[in-house]
Amino acid sequence: MGANVLDPLSQVEFFNVIGGGPRSAKESHQVEDPRTEAALWDSPIASAQDLDDAVEAGHAAFKTWGRSTLAERAGVLNAVAKVLYDNDELLTSILMRETGKSRIMAHMEVQRAAFHYEYYAKEQLADEIQYEDDDIQIIGTHEPYGVIGAISPWNFPLILSSVKVASALATGNCVIIKPSPFTPYAILKFCELAQSALPAGGIFQALNGGADVGEGMTRHPGIAHISFTGTIAVGQKIMASCAGTLKKVILELAGNDAAIVTDDVDVDAVVPKVALGCLLHAGQMCVASKRLYVHASRYDAFLAAFRAHLAKSYVATYEDADAPSVFGPLSNRPNFDRCRGFVEDCRKNGYEVITVGEDNLGGQKKKKGLWMAPTIIANPPEDSLVVREEQFGPVVPIMKYEDEADVIARANLDNAGLGASIWCRDADRARKLARQLETGTVFINQPPQPHHAGYFAGQKLSGVGGELGKQGLLSYCQTKSLHIGKK
Ligand code: NAD
Repeated sequence: MGANVLDPLSQVEFFNVIGGGPRSAKESHQVEDPRTEAALWDSPIASAQDLDDAVEAGHAAFKTWGRSTLAERAGVLNAVAKVLYDNDELLTSILMRETGKSRIMAHMEVQRAAFHYEYYAKEQLADEIQYEDDDIQIIGTHEPYGVIGAISPWNFPLILSSVKVASALATGNCVIIKPSPFTPYAILKFCELAQSALPAGGIFQALNGGADVGEGMTRHPGIAHISFTGTIAVGQKIMASCAGTLKKVILELAGNDAAIVTDDVDVDAVVPKVALGCLLHAGQMCVASKRLYVHASRYDAFLAAFRAHLAKSYVATYEDADAPSVFGPLSNRPNFDRCRGFVEDCRKNGYEVITVGEDNLGGQKKKKGLWMAPTIIANPPEDSLVVREEQFGPVVPIMKYEDEADVIARANLDNAGLGASIWCRDADRARKLARQLETGTVFINQPPQPHHAGYFAGQKLSGVGGELGKQGLLSYCQTKSLHIGKK
């Protein structure tokens, strides 16, 4: 940008959105742009009074919105999607700054967020006859809870918040979204803009803040339900806190997903797809492949091809935010420090650490930004930190296995069960393997990525309840049974 041209984003302001309008806050904070480490805009921090006011406005709006018809909700959901499309450029630019994503990734996020509203405009929960005979007809009718508190993480802020907001609106609930304080901007702006598409203030509100604001939501007697996406540790705190008011909860939590590459694959064909599953958004994705298990007969060929592919496709262009790269910096400093800690632990323990494109990064070290080269850890032991824990970054442990029973036992964990992937040319064999994996989702011969139409829920410590697909709507409402006597 030339010296005399004002950056249009420099004049953008951000507000909490309460009762249909923007509200300033006494306290604010600024997020660091992960590409440049420059401080971004002031972001308001909601107070306890703001939360009380939002809950009150939610209840006022629920009086009418809770009785809206499916057709009315569909109209609103489509109008909200249009807000995203109409403001794609602005929201893409904001997302790029707060997450470090490239333009193509941020644009994809805005578009995919919009799909969720459009999808739930079509896929709704109508009344259904559960049973009928000569004596009785039983109808299931799906009623909203009231005011839902939605708490989202920083890795895909607009998509993951939109899943919650779209599900809540489709079922007739009012919703207060609390974004992660690492990525508050796009959601606050989107919520402010979306008010023009809503029939009343208080239906969709947004409050920025950290753990305090989130905890306030989990304890608030006026909030009936919490939908949370984030870490297992915070999910456990939320469940305990919600017990006080017996709130319903959806917990979409962390995973440590395995990808199994069998002995029959075409290595060159699968490597780019497996790499995408590991390194989209620099590995900061809940269902990223975080542990690769490659059959011993293909291990050397896979490792060589994987390394060559990373050098070709993941290093050359990622510095330029306008280049079509799916890779980028770590999104915030705690995650940057955490991911580097995994690599330090590997080095300390003498595991083989292969950093790809360090020469590029050598140049970048003089510059600013939370950059980390894609890093392969070759065949670390199963009990190493990088295999046991979710790394949430561009660090990819690649292990060998000999037989299927062994790899299934290693892929299945006691402490997580979010997703897993199988790369196998034989479709029957792939499906048999998939059924033995103890996870909520298995991706077969495709890079892991949740789909708006597929129910998504973690097994074991990876979650409680679920979202997405038609079934996901059931987590956002209570089914009332009407028993109608016929005689
Ligand atoms: P996090 O748990 O640290 O924070 C998530 C949200 O919870 C933030 O908005 C945060 O401010 C809020 N929060 C923190 N403490 C709270 C408390 N005590 N009470 C209420 N709210 C509180 O997670 P994160 O670092 O933002 O996100 C990354 C994690 O999310 C990774 O582990 C990733 O695997 C997981 N994730 C899971 C899914 C899924 O669908 N299963 C999707 C994306 C990310």
